[in-house]
Order: sequence, then C-alpha cells, then structure tokens
Amino acid sequence: MAIPIPSRQLFIDGEWKEPVLKKRIPIVNPTTELITGDIPAATAEDVELAVAAARRALVRNKGSDWASASGSVRAKYLRAIAAKVTERKSELAKLEALDCGKPLDEAAWDMDDVAGCFEYYADLAEGLDAKQKAPVSLPMESFKSYVLKEPIGVVALITPWNYPLLMATWKVAPALAAGCTAILKPSELSSVTCLELADICKEVGLPSGVLNILTGLGPEAGAPLAAHPQIDKIAFTGSSATGSKIMTAAAQLVKPVSLELGGKSPIVVFEDVDIDKAVEWAIFGCFWTNGQICSATSRLILHESIAAEFLSKMVKWIKNIKISDPLEEGCRLGPVVSEGQYEKILKFISTAKSEGATILTGGCRPAHLKKGFFVEPTVITDVNTSMQIWREEVFGPVLCVKTFSTEEEAIDLANDTHYGLGSAVISNNLERCERITKAFQAGIVWINCSQPCFCQAPWGGSKRSGFGRELGEWGLDNYLSVKQVTQYISDEPW
Ligand code: NAD
Repeated sequence: MAIPIPSRQLFIDGEWKEPVLKKRIPIVNPTTELITGDIPAATAEDVELAVAAARRALVRNKGSDWASASGSVRAKYLRAIAAKVTERKSELAKLEALDCGKPLDEAAWDMDDVAGCFEYYADLAEGLDAKQKAPVSLPMESFKSYVLKEPIGVVALITPWNYPLLMATWKVAPALAAGCTAILKPSELSSVTCLELADICKEVGLPSGVLNILTGLGPEAGAPLAAHPQIDKIAFTGSSATGSKIMTAAAQLVKPVSLELGGKSPIVVFEDVDIDKAVEWAIFGCFWTNGQICSATSRLILHESIAAEFLSKMVKWIKNIKISDPLEEGCRLGPVVSEGQYEKILKFISTAKSEGATILTGGCRPAHLKKGFFVEPTVITDVNTSMQIWREEVFGPVLCVKTFSTEEEAIDLANDTHYGLGSAVISNNLERCERITKAFQAGIVWINCSQPCFCQAPWGGSKRSGFGRELGEWGLDNYLSVKQVTQYISDEPW
C-alpha cells in the first residue's frame, strides 16, 4: 500500500532549513506519473551554509569535535543509525519503491544492506583506534617513524538515483567512520529516503553539522558543492559525463576525487554450463533493479554452440517476469525512474533497430500497462561492435547479445569497451575462469554469477568507469589521509 511522502527541508547543521531561495522540485511517481510531493532545491547559498556547518563540526571546540572523537564514539552513532534503518525498514522500502520505481522486495533488501553497511563501518571505526601510530621500519636506528591516519576533512558526497539510500550509505558510513564531516547531495530524481536519513540522524542525536543533506539539481547544488574551496575531497557516483565535470572542478583546486561511473559490463557464457542456471544469472545480471545498475552485465557474449537454446530459454523466462506497480506482491520489474530515462531507453532501442539489430523480445512498453515509465525486458541480437547499443550504457532493461567461437574472441569482445566496471564469466572449467579473470579489464569479476555485492569487498572500476574503491577497508581509506611522522631518537648530534 502506498504511503504519503513526508514533506522535508534541507538538513543543515542538525536542523531542517528551508532553501535560501525557497525553491522546490516536484516528485513524480514513475508508476502513476503523478506528482506525489516535492523536495527542497538547494543552491549555492545553501551550499555555503552546509559547508560552514560541516567545517565547524570538524574542528568544533578542539577536542570535542567529530574528527578527534575516538572511533568507538563514532561507531556508537553509526550503529544507532543502522538500528533506526532496521526499525523503519518497511516504511523506507515503500518510500524508495514509490520514489524510484524499484520493486518493493528489492527495496527492502537494499534497506538491509544499508543497515549492514553502517554496522560494518562502525566495526572499522572502532578498529581505527588500534591502527594509529603504525610503525614504519627504517634503515637507520637513529630515527623512528610511524603513520597517523587522519580524516581528510569536509567531504562532498554526490550520488545517483538507482540505489538512492544505498549509494548514499556507501559514502556516508565510511566518511563518518573515518572522522570526516560531510555534505551529501543525492540525485534530484530520488532524494526521498536520503531526507529520511536526515530524520534518522536527528533522532539518534548525531552531532550537528557532521552530516548535512542538500537535495537539488546537479548544476545548481552539485556543481557549487564540488567547486567549493572548503571541500577537502569529492566522492562521486554517477555518469561518466558528470564525473568528468567533477574531475575538472576538483582539478582547479587540486582536490582528491573518487569516481564511480558508468559501465557496459560483459557476461561471457561458455558451452560447458548448465544452461538453465546460466540463463538465470544472465537475466538477474541485466534486469535486476530494472536494468538500472552501473555494473549490469548488459553485453551477453555467448558461445555459438549454445546460443539458440540459451536465447529461447531466456525469452521464455523473461515472458514470466512480473512487470507491475513496484508495490504489488511479486513484482519483479517496475518502471524506470523518470520520463527522461524512459524516452532515452526507447531511443536506444529504436537506434539499434535502425542500425540493423533484431529485437528478440521486448523493445516497448508492456501492453497491459497504460501508464508509468515501464519498459519490457529487451534482448537485442544481430548486434555488431560498432553499434551504439554495444558501445554505450543504456541504464535500462536492455541486453545485447553477440556470439563467439574461441576463448580469445570472447576476451576481445568482453574488453571491447571504454568502460571497465563489472564483468562475469560462466563456465564449469575453473582454470578457464581464472584465465578469463586475469584477462578482463574491469574492477570487478564475477565467476559463475553476476552482481552479488558485499560491503566487505572492494567496489570500483577501471577505464572510463572511474577510479578509487568503495566498500571494505578501501572504502574507509577513501576518507583518510596518511601522515608520516619521523622522529630523531639518537643522543648523537646529526
Ligand atoms: P548523473 O551523473 O546524471 O548524476 C549523478 C549525481 O550528480 C546527481 O546527484 C546529480 O544531481 C549530480 N550532478 C549532475 N550534474 C552535476 C554537476 N555539474 N556537478 C555536480 N553534480 C552534478 O548520474 P545519474 O543519472 O544520477 O546516475 C546514473 C549513472 O550513475 C549511470 O551512468 C551509472 O552507471 C552510474 N552509477 C555508477 C555506480 C558505480 O558504482 N560505478 C553506481 C550507481 C550508478
């Protein structure tokens, strides 16, 4: 059942604040196409207030500030946030489904992952205390050296719409664990649950200014945030085009950035597999979250000897996917996030057709749904490697297929992309899987699966999919700077 979307303000310095220019952005429900509420639209004026609040929280009262609080103090707040997310899981999942069209079951799993991620970084925050002053061995006895890991400072966290609260958590949890203070700018297309995170921060008494949340448009709120001289680091997840702009802004002030960008990930399926299982992974790998996954394995590279059987089973399976209102029981595919995204996906499909590809299944709105930004799961064959559908990220439920005959050919096809985020290989020959793993030009390799993601393991891409790693200890390191301390300890004069 739908629930009302709370009306919220910006979250600055621990308080709800109306945007200085009083602007708001309507929320459009992607299932009904109706306006269901609105979110505040921050501008440069609000960015100033949020950055000032975050800076005060970082250095407040020297000694009682967030940066120098012990890891275990910070962990207490992270655990409290995790507990509140769990307590409010059902409400948050519904809000996520209403806001971005994600099937309710998937949104509920996301909320478990959100809570799990806050818990995980609470553990790492506690562990940080013990890791301080790690000794460095030197070749001269008259010196001793050690390393201090310190919070980078005030960080800007800019996130996309496909996993609204989870993508925010991947940044907020390690940043706060590290002792940074932060300004989160979620996507204007799906900010509702991030504003509820603000409410949770208020409820658990997170010290004011530690986390500030500014909703708003990219150019109006994101750009001034990225360019602000008092921001010490930018962590960005989104498209490669925006990532490039963020990097340009950061370069002006030589600020560190980490970029989690788009993808066009391959899934290579060999002839020795259990076809039914492989079909299931290929479907999950591309159509989960309506295909709006950065790492979606959206290029299926199939051994020619099994292609006919594989594709026929795949089409049969796809016809049984329940496409509906994401709040409906058993929904497996909801609408894509916005009208703009819907039009963009249909344009990709029509261009593929006009370039000579075949739409094996899907390619349009499901006949039984008259409203909403729904696109049927689409499989495209007769693709060649110069086609747009092979080269560009669609970010929707669209899979394109090519066949291969040799392992070498499969590797060449897999790496035939500017991107390098995910990659998958399905084969019963584990030696072959290891060879392919080494050959893949990607930050993540799945063997005999596609998409599972654990907050303990590093996440990130190569090539135009960005650089830096989130999650695991690598995620914490994103927000820590390393200070070398070397002391002269000899009584002898130097
Ligand atoms: P987007 O680049 O349009 O927007 C991402 C964020 O940047 C939003 O908050 C937006 O408001 C903000 N933004 C836009 N213009 C800006 C500017 N000039 N300055 C500062 N901020 C600006 O991306 P999207 O459409 O929201 O998300 C989809 C993209 O995200 C896809 O390419 C997808 O692959 C990628 N993504 C990557 C990962 C990953 O882990 N690598 C995860 C999720 C999504």
